Amino acid sequence: MDEPSPPPIPRDLHCEYEERPFKHCTRCGETLEDDAGGFQVSKAYKNGECVMEYALCDHCRTAMMEEFSQESKKRLSTFQDESVDLERGLHLCSVCGQGRDGEGTDDYVITGVCEHDRLLHSIMICGQCADGVQELLSAKTKDTWRRFVDENFPGPPGEGEYPEIEETKTTPMPVFSIKV
Ligand SMILES: [Zn+2]
Ligand SMILES: [Zn+2]
Repeated sequence: MDEPSPPPIPRDLHCEYEERPFKHCTRCGETLEDDAGGFQVSKAYKNGECVMEYALCDHCRTAMMEEFSQESKKRLSTFQDESVDLERGLHLCSVCGQGRDGEGTDDYVITGVCEHDRLLHSIMICGQCADGVQELLSAKTKDTWRRFVDENFPGPPGEGEYPEIEETKTTPMPVFSIKV
């Protein structure tokens, strides 16, 4: 019997800015749809609003992970094995099980692993659990992430409009190497 084909990429994981699925890698600009290795989409929400979104082609994702320290990678994979449920989808925190609209979960990060126009895996992680994950990371790994953000997300126009910009730089890291 044929495997059921994976669902299309849901609206939740579309690019807010363009109001359609992501077409290009945020880091290198490569077209995503034809990329055989698949790609990852992540979006971070604060108070229910999307504050950051990006797509990474398989090449860029791997390149970034390679820059992470060994120690961070090891801790993350242990954490993923022990504490993350990859089956809860985009509405329940993959770590604690809280729903998006639960108490104190207006902040969350959603991540999908996609191939062509299909969604292979998806997880949500609430702000609190995401903060916990940050503590697993070494300074080197956090630097890699910060550099990615600095290089790809120029500061917002109109100063003072986004007081939490510093926070958006540290929270929504693509920490899960969801290669299932
Ligand atoms: Zn890329
Ligand atoms: Zn949680």
